[in-house]
Amino acid sequence: MIEPGATIGILGGGQLGRMTVLAASALGYRCHVYCPIKDSPAKQATSLSTTASYGNKAALARFANAVDVVTFEFENVPGDTAEFLAEHKPVRPGPNALRIAQDRIKEKDFLRSIGIATAPYRAVSNEAELRAAVAAMGPRGILKTVRMGYDGKGQTGIRAETNLAEAWKGFGSTDGILEGFVEFACEISVIVARGENGKWASYAPVENQHVNHILDTTIAPARVAPAIAMRAEAIATHIAEKLDLVGLLAVEMFVTHDGQVLVNEIAPRPHNSGHWTIDACYTNQFEQLVRAICGLPLGSPERHSDAVMKNLIGADIEKWREAINDPLQKIHLYGKDKAEPGRKMGHVTRLISRR
Ligand code: AMP
Repeated sequence: MIEPGATIGILGGGQLGRMTVLAASALGYRCHVYCPIKDSPAKQATSLSTTASYGNKAALARFANAVDVVTFEFENVPGDTAEFLAEHKPVRPGPNALRIAQDRIKEKDFLRSIGIATAPYRAVSNEAELRAAVAAMGPRGILKTVRMGYDGKGQTGIRAETNLAEAWKGFGSTDGILEGFVEFACEISVIVARGENGKWASYAPVENQHVNHILDTTIAPARVAPAIAMRAEAIATHIAEKLDLVGLLAVEMFVTHDGQVLVNEIAPRPHNSGHWTIDACYTNQFEQLVRAICGLPLGSPERHSDAVMKNLIGADIEKWREAINDPLQKIHLYGKDKAEPGRKMGHVTRLISRR
């Protein structure tokens, strides 16, 4: 067991890291944040930090020396960085989960190999392959970058009327995946925590509404039939087990009109759709991560309230002024100075009593 007083190393300095630092601090841990950006949200929350690139071996070695366990809050940390650190200190979740999650083709191949349904997909690296994929899969799809895509970055919608030559030119990468478009009834996600001993605890499935491919609202719990909720939880725990994951796994899924549950993406880290757990659950996702990676028993993922979480994106940050007057709204701001369009600046959770 890595006991309170020890130091948790966090790769990545964004809001997920910031909220991990806050939860770890409550349990008496120190956190050391490693991130190339100087004034990042997570660094504001702790006095221990390194500002260096993810490829800087000397800085990584010093970081490994200074911490007792390493985790990450940013999925695009290079796999080599995680592997280098794993030679010195436990990295949880392990580099394998990271490598799978950061490559959409590896991710879908892996999911299929363990019997999990996904949207149809094909790798495409040039215009001819895009044409062949559209001919085979049907005219409606989404062309995505295989790596480094998040919040809808690097995505191009494909329809029957799309000029494929122009779409391919505009895509601007040779590393593509065409996914069949899923006509979903709703999008849901499940976050599961898994400890070293294989014990797990999962949060209730939640419903996610996106605007411009970015998460806008999470409704907890999801408004789906109990059988769908149970299937979604079973899918998430099955994936965590097959990855032999220690830490947190978020699984994003589509629920189709005929009741299929298809996995869209997995993320081996805290997730935006779990922010509601801070205010509405006995143990929030960040504390659960700390417990899992430090070998502490997992806490209860049960909720004492239902909740609706709304992201404050870009200029929406100003909405905190309204929310602060409502006693049932909990405000979380991430300390970012520039409110650029599409940038997640904070979130507000509205609690709904279950009584
Ligand atoms: P992603 O970056 O893969 O999470 O995609 C962002 C959002 O785009 C998803 O949450 C969906 O709302 C939408 N989306 C992504 N892939 C598909 C798909 N194959 N079919 C329909 N909608 C999708």
